[in-house]
Amino acid sequence: MGPVGNGRASRVWKGDSKNGPHSARAHFFRFQVPRSRFQAEDSNHVNHLTDSQGRPIRYMRVSVTDRCNLRCRYCTPAEEFVSLSHDHIITYEEIHRLAALLAPMGVTKVRITGGEPLVRKHLDRLVRSLATTAGITDISLTTNGYLLGPLAGTLRKAGLSRVNISLDSLKEDRFAWITGPNGEGGPGGLDRVLDGIRVAARAGLFPVKINAVLMRGFNDDELADFADLTRDQEYEVRFIEFMPMSPEGFWGPEKVVSAAEAIGRLETIHGPLAPLGRGKGAGPAVRYRIPGFRGTIGFITPVSQHFCIDCNRIRITADGKIRTCLFSDNETDLLTPLRSGAADDEILALIQDALTGKPQGHGMGKGEGVQGCARTMSHIGG
Ligand code: SAM
Repeated sequence: MGPVGNGRASRVWKGDSKNGPHSARAHFFRFQVPRSRFQAEDSNHVNHLTDSQGRPIRYMRVSVTDRCNLRCRYCTPAEEFVSLSHDHIITYEEIHRLAALLAPMGVTKVRITGGEPLVRKHLDRLVRSLATTAGITDISLTTNGYLLGPLAGTLRKAGLSRVNISLDSLKEDRFAWITGPNGEGGPGGLDRVLDGIRVAARAGLFPVKINAVLMRGFNDDELADFADLTRDQEYEVRFIEFMPMSPEGFWGPEKVVSAAEAIGRLETIHGPLAPLGRGKGAGPAVRYRIPGFRGTIGFITPVSQHFCIDCNRIRITADGKIRTCLFSDNETDLLTPLRSGAADDEILALIQDALTGKPQGHGMGKGEGVQGCARTMSHIGG
């Protein structure tokens, strides 16, 4: 499917004549439209899992721990965080059972996240079991990269397909500041993460994606430096709009740098960005290349342009609850039934039931705020 999407594109075009219909801005807005590719994919699955809006579920994100070795100021609650006890964390076997139940229903992708997933021991065991689950074709990991260097090769061999590394500054002092009030990320933390990125690329965890949350006044002056990472390497650097899911007082609308603004700022430096199609595993990112650069740049727009209409994901929290929308606190406990002998059909019925409550979308960015989101990203699993 080309970048234009379906025929409804013109209705959401918000560009002006100055930017022109072939500009990066035009491309960016055109991508924010409903696409019909799911219907084609659906014909491959007889009993696919859908929500009440008819959206097929393809993607399970599972948080394997609520612990993190960093305490990013915008992500982790400021107050002392009491981690879940071992007994209340979903086991690898339970995650594998869920994947094996969901794969025949159309789920093909699993993302492992946290907390920080690499602080959980023997993660390669989980990856290996998912990789041998019929129907699961894509296993990815979201990590802060701090522990990635020594583990990337083992995870790749176990069957990990690719990796996303969160990195919000390329400056040592800023990195140390944002990653923890008690110096959790420094000194030397940034170099560890950069090394993890290089090792992951060498191990073949491709495409290596580097995710930066843009926060005005903190790192928006590093836009060009991040983009420069794509000059000689096939990295995908993705800029994520700062979402109002932060510890009290950290987020503010003035700190959000929209994708449209970021594109404009990059284009004043590099000239027009070249629009790209949706690559394998691109998810909700709208992608570009700076002409002459090897890697790509993506923009993820939860605030300025929702992609709820295409949402194909469910989340499993570290305490075994299914969460059908990042921004809704409606959760259904799966851990208790998993541990009390529920049959496969019963578990699937609970999941299908939870999906009937999957919201059509969230109101973020429309002045509605985020309703009922009591947990921060570090709790839910980003
Ligand atoms: N520890 C792992 C990591 O750092 O990637 C996985 C968990 S972390 C919660 C997942 C992602 O959520 C990170 O990329 C982080 O930047 C993002 N995140 C947390 N709070 C956010 C917010 N308010 N807005 C946008 N992204 C956020």
